[in-house]
This record gives sequence, structure tokens and C-alpha cells, in this order.
Amino acid sequence: MSRFNNRIEQMPPSGIRKFFDLVLDAKDIISLGVGEPDFVTPWHVRERVFFSLEQGRTSYTSNWGLMELRRETAKYLKDRFAVSYDAEQIMITVGVSEAVDIALRTILNEGDEVILPEPTYVCYRPLAELAGAKAVAVSNPSFKITADDIEKAVTPRSRVIILSYPSNPTGYTIARAEIEKIAEIARKHDLWIISDEIYAELTYEKEHYSIAAAPGMKDRVILLNGFSKAFAMTGWRLGYIAASDDFLEQAVKIHQYAALCAPIMAQYAALESLQRGMGEMEEMKKSYWRRRNYMFEALNKIGMTVERPEGAFYIFPSIECSKLSSEEFALGLLEKQRVAVIPGNVFGLGGEGRVRICYAIDFELLKESVARMERFIKSL
Ligand code: PLP
Repeated sequence: MSRFNNRIEQMPPSGIRKFFDLVLDAKDIISLGVGEPDFVTPWHVRERVFFSLEQGRTSYTSNWGLMELRRETAKYLKDRFAVSYDAEQIMITVGVSEAVDIALRTILNEGDEVILPEPTYVCYRPLAELAGAKAVAVSNPSFKITADDIEKAVTPRSRVIILSYPSNPTGYTIARAEIEKIAEIARKHDLWIISDEIYAELTYEKEHYSIAAAPGMKDRVILLNGFSKAFAMTGWRLGYIAASDDFLEQAVKIHQYAALCAPIMAQYAALESLQRGMGEMEEMKKSYWRRRNYMFEALNKIGMTVERPEGAFYIFPSIECSKLSSEEFALGLLEKQRVAVIPGNVFGLGGEGRVRICYAIDFELLKESVARMERFIKSL
């Protein structure tokens, strides 16, 4: 008999981490692998935390998080995305990662089905399975999932649809009209929506539209967001859930037993980020936008065809020109040209034949990486 939980034993480790570990110690590798801003957290945020430490703020907080931060977060959501939650309807979490786990465990029962548009971020499927549910992948060749694609996957066991836009890995998002149709499906079939909006600030042409803003959706949307990406705060591990009172009444139990509260230092850092306005964040966004524009043109030029991503800091080009699988491409490129990308297949259905590139790295290195990719393709 095994000494471990069966579900954990059967779960593969994250495909992203595998590539991350490969490049961790190598100095000559250009890594386009990890989805992380190349900015450090702005100085005023770090300074605020020094100050909070000086004042001896090193305790636990309420399980829900600092009230001041919950108030600022509610205000931020209203100002930026026109979704209105009371401060009491915000729970501060240890990153969006913990928020996803809590959201799934709060609503899923054994055998429930989770409708999961893929390719998508890697944590949803394993965490849904850990909660005893089954992930049902839906995909669309354009990577822009439609309400029809989703409705075809609905069964009597369906419990929740996970939306994650702008998307990691594709950088695409979905139009407001389609989101409204998805909302209609959720109402019709009495489904929850978990909406991971961690890249909501990083949209380049269109404004982000949250499904929580769609009429009649607030009681069935579990809105997740956090500070890692837009505010360049990955290491602080801070996120939040905005949701209905009845959901949070259950969800807080998982958080209080498993995490107790998010670190107080990180909560002060987040408070500072929100109170100081969006100035620095807008600058970072401009810089991603410039790099997005460059990568879109450069990759198409070398035969890695791709449509223009609309948000986040990823691009997900086709590698059809190489005639390799995405895993072969990523390994070959790493070995021969010392460039790390993530094979598209790790993001699920529809990801094979693509690679994910995170372009949040120095511009000169980005150019060099394109030159190396071109050399790699020509050498095949
Ligand atoms: N959700 C998505 C879509 C992500 O891409 C990531 C990180 O890459 C996360 C959640 C994790 O966020 P956090 O750092 O807040 O745990």
C-alpha cells in the first residue's frame, strides 16, 4: 500500500517548473520561461514595508485580512473595473494561487465537473482533481472560447466554469459580448464562475471587462485577483477573493485552517500599491506593450506565426514551421541555442504545436532570443 495520497501520487508536477529548474543554474541561457515581471516592486512599496516593520507590525491579522486593505481593494475594483463589492466581501489570500484552491474546494463535491477552457494556466486542473472533481477541457482553434463551446460541455454534473482572461499562456482575451453570453449560460444551468483576473490591468487595446460586472452575476461569480503581475509583486504572495457573503462564509474556513492569514508585511505592501495610484503600474504596462509589439512582428517574420496577443505578457506562437512537437522544440532550442520557452502542451488541450514565450525580459535579450530562435529553425 502506498504511503501517500492517491490523487497526489497520480498528479504530474508542473510542466513550467520543470523548465524553470532546468535553467535555474545556467548563466548563458536566455529564459523566456517564467511568467514574472522583470521589474522589482516599486521603491515606495518596499519603503512602506520597512516603516511597518519599524513600527513592529509583525503579527497575524484577521483571517480576512486588514480591514483597510479590504476597503481599498473594494474601492479599486469599483474604480478600475466597475464591479461593486463591500469591503466585507473581500478576503485577502496568499496569492491568487491560494484563492484558486479555496474557490474550488469551497464549491466542489466528489464527481462534479469543472468546465475548463484550455490551453490555460496550469493550476486549475490539478487543484480541481484534488478536490475530487473532474476537469472537462474545452478548446477553440482561435483560442477565443465562445459561449457555444462552453455550452456544449455542460452536463448535469457541471458545477463551475473557470475563466482566466487575459489568458496565460495565449495573451488573448474574450470580448464583452461573449462574456455576457457565458454569463447567460451560467445562469441558465445554475453554474458558478471562477474568474481569475490576475492580468486584468495588463490589457493593451481593449479595456478589461469582468464577468462580475455582468447583470445578475454577482452571486455566482468568484472573482480572483492579486498583486503579483500588474504591481510587480510576485514574491510577496498576495491576492484576494471577491464574492458573495454565503460563499465567503464557507471559504474563510479553509483559509483560516490552512493559512490563517496572508503575511502582514505583504498586506501593507499591497495597501501602499493601491493607495499610491496606478502611475508606476501604467509605466510598466507601457513597457510590456512595446515588447509585445516587437515580439508579435519579430516572431511572424521568422515563421513562428501568431496573432497579436491582447494582454498579459505572453505570446503563444505556432511552431509548425519546425515540424517538431512543442516538447521537442523547447528541448532542442534550450540545448542548441540556450533559450528557454515552455512547450504549449503543458497548458492542456489545444496547446500542442505552440510554445509559450514570456516577453517580460530586457529588450536586448529579447532581440537576441529571436535571433537564436531563427538560427534554431534554420538549422532544422
Ligand atoms: N493565475 C494565473 C492566470 C497566473 O498566470 C498565475 C501566475 O503565473 C497565477 C494565477 C498565480 O498568481 P499568484 O502569484 O497571485 O499566486
